[in-house]
Amino acid sequence: MPTKTQHTIVLLIEDDEEDYILLQKVLSKVPHQRYKVLWEQRPERGLAHMLMEDHDICLVDFRLGAASGIDLLKEARSHGYNHPIIMLTGAGEDNIDIQALQAGADDYITKDLLQGELLHRLIRYAIERKKAEQERDRLQREQIIRDEREARRNEFISMVVHELKTPITSLKGYSQLLGKRCERMGDAQGMNLAARMDQQVNRLTSLIDDLLDINRMEGDKLRLRESDFDFDELVEEIMADIQLTTEQHSLVREGETHATLRGDRERIGQVLTNLLTNAIKYAPESETIVVKLARDEQSVTASVQDFGPGIPKEQQAYVFEPFYRVEGVETSVSGLGLGLAIAASLVERHRGKIWVESEEGEGTTFSFSLPLAAQQVDQPMLEVGR
Ligand code: ADP
Repeated sequence: MPTKTQHTIVLLIEDDEEDYILLQKVLSKVPHQRYKVLWEQRPERGLAHMLMEDHDICLVDFRLGAASGIDLLKEARSHGYNHPIIMLTGAGEDNIDIQALQAGADDYITKDLLQGELLHRLIRYAIERKKAEQERDRLQREQIIRDEREARRNEFISMVVHELKTPITSLKGYSQLLGKRCERMGDAQGMNLAARMDQQVNRLTSLIDDLLDINRMEGDKLRLRESDFDFDELVEEIMADIQLTTEQHSLVREGETHATLRGDRERIGQVLTNLLTNAIKYAPESETIVVKLARDEQSVTASVQDFGPGIPKEQQAYVFEPFYRVEGVETSVSGLGLGLAIAASLVERHRGKIWVESEEGEGTTFSFSLPLAAQQVDQPMLEVGR
């Protein structure tokens, strides 16, 4: 706020000329700081001048003839006047301090204490405090605007994605119907086309589901449906499902956990599904994909290992970020770069960890660990086996 010439410009609203002269004198003696005093004698003119905002700070006398400095102060604030204000009071009037602060003054001083050093300090602090306050307000306003924009964006995406789901669900119904009709008519080519159509519809559905999920996660709106479930059973189910989608790869399980976990069974299944489908997509030459299960006193760990091309070291740190895709990977492999971000977020929501180990040319292992359900922690494995 202090102006370019390093003058601090003070607007004084004071009916008594002698006090104006006194204040000028006091401020002119302040070392290392130059003050320029603008003076208004009458409250109406004072208010108009305040609203011109050509000064750094305003000093208002409590008694302005018949008028009250407090009323002037309130009026100025109600017009959006945003500079600091210090109220000047006569001797013995120090009981009005609270009134003055409530009306919007930043500080007050009794005139018999008017002395350079003190006044200079009050002015400087009031200006700096006001600046900090305005900066805080500005940051808060910006944050509110950002939050609102984000919420609108999330709402918009969610609306678009929901709208897309309806026709896609119908399409899926029609493609299946068509497949059955072709089957009845013994039309093998038609059946094949309908099956491919169905596959593409499934891909679209999963892209849309990923977009919905990431949107919910970013808006902190993803709800988990918690239950206790058998982890090995879930892994077995998911592996069997995914095995049906590939003839090229053989999915092999090593180890068991005999663990009960507490969490959203479907969502944890989604994590494993994402890792397995990635292994299939990005390691097409890998004959086996190994799912290793392990358990310690606190947690279970599942690792999905492929023997594909691997991920360059410098890119490994980014693969869990939304929309990130490793550079140099064949462009024929489609995807939005959301699967791992969703997996990471789901694991984090279950208070677990997810990580990647990979050597270029040798393969990739994605692992995640999840805490055991509370009643199983620290119990020897045999007692909880079933
Ligand atoms: P998407 O598969 O949709 O691109 P993901 O978030 O699942 O998104 O994966 C991000 C990127 O990480 C992929 O684009 C791919 O480049 C790389 N990636 C994931 N899994 C593997 C893997 N098993 N082997 C090599 N690269 C992988």
